[in-house]
Amino acid sequence: MPRFTEPDGRIDIKSLSLDELTTELVALGSEKFRALQIWKWLWQKAARTFEEMTNISREWRDKLPAHFVIRELTPVGVLTSTDGTRKFLWHTADGQQIESVLIPDDDRLTLCVSTQVGCAMACSFCLTGDLGLKRHLRPAEIVNQPLQISRILPAGQRITNVVMMGMGEPLHNYDNLVAALRVYLHEHGLGMSHRRITVSTVGLVPAMKRLTDDLPVNLAVSLNASTEEQRRAVMPITKKYSMAELLEACRDLPIHHHKRITFEYVMMAGFNDSLEDAARLSKLLRGIRSKVNLIPYNENPQRDIQRPAAEVARAFQHYLVTRGVQCSIRSTRGKDISAACGQLGKADLASVAIFAESGA
Ligand code: SAH
Repeated sequence: MPRFTEPDGRIDIKSLSLDELTTELVALGSEKFRALQIWKWLWQKAARTFEEMTNISREWRDKLPAHFVIRELTPVGVLTSTDGTRKFLWHTADGQQIESVLIPDDDRLTLCVSTQVGCAMACSFCLTGDLGLKRHLRPAEIVNQPLQISRILPAGQRITNVVMMGMGEPLHNYDNLVAALRVYLHEHGLGMSHRRITVSTVGLVPAMKRLTDDLPVNLAVSLNASTEEQRRAVMPITKKYSMAELLEACRDLPIHHHKRITFEYVMMAGFNDSLEDAARLSKLLRGIRSKVNLIPYNENPQRDIQRPAAEVARAFQHYLVTRGVQCSIRSTRGKDISAACGQLGKADLASVAIFAESGA
């Protein structure tokens, strides 16, 4: 029984795996090959209707809409930053608002994808957390973000990288995330390389282990602290999975030999940005194939938290690098449009340029 059906009983076809679609079609009396034909239309050609599927027989094109619905996100607006970052706002079929952020950077075009409406993790510094969790996104909604954005890119441009770092905690929505990632990775789906997909998590330890068993994508962990007390103070999930347990799990994960775990570390002035923090961090990460990504805090009126001065961030980085820890500082992108880390879910629709006509 497919998990995603409409009130009228029709199946959300884009939330099915190719195997599930095959099963459904065969049950309707179809030959198996038709599933792959339809699947290619959905993901490679971004078809919006069965009518477009011209290599499907007339009989089946007429029959399919009675059983399946092709869902799309409704484009609501796009905000463009002075640095070229674009934030896309969407409505889901039930009227929830979600966001995706497209970040151009030299030869890369990275899409930051949302996996939930809101978030249940309640990290004290993160504005998305203020929304609480409204609901999980369906597989179709997670895949439609890159699919629909790709449609409006100029010829020759394509999304090169995807990071599951938008609204939500991806591993809290495990089954839908993995179903969506299988479409991203499928050669007849979006056909992306696992090397260009990163899943970021607050550190849901059992789900992290499951993910590394299930799929070869990159893993990022938002560590954000150098002691248990510090982390507990800002990331409630630490009460469930201690930092020690989290790092132990990272040490034991069967990370593929050419991959490293990325540890994200949001730097908050006077809280976790001292050289003592850097020293503790370098000890904590010993024995873990890892790299550190420092994220100077993106300030906002809702929190009395400051980002450290650039020299402080650089000194922290220098400390780690000279101790053999790979470490970069993430440049802030899209701050003027509230598209930066931890700012999603706060869009001011009044200032949004409507792109409903743009064809996404
Ligand atoms: N829930 C997942 C995916 C979201 S990623 C996770 O936490 O990893 C969003 C990243 O932005 C996280 O690393 C988070 O710690 C960071 N972040 C949240 N608020 C921020 C802010 N105001 N400034 C900088 N980074 C922030």
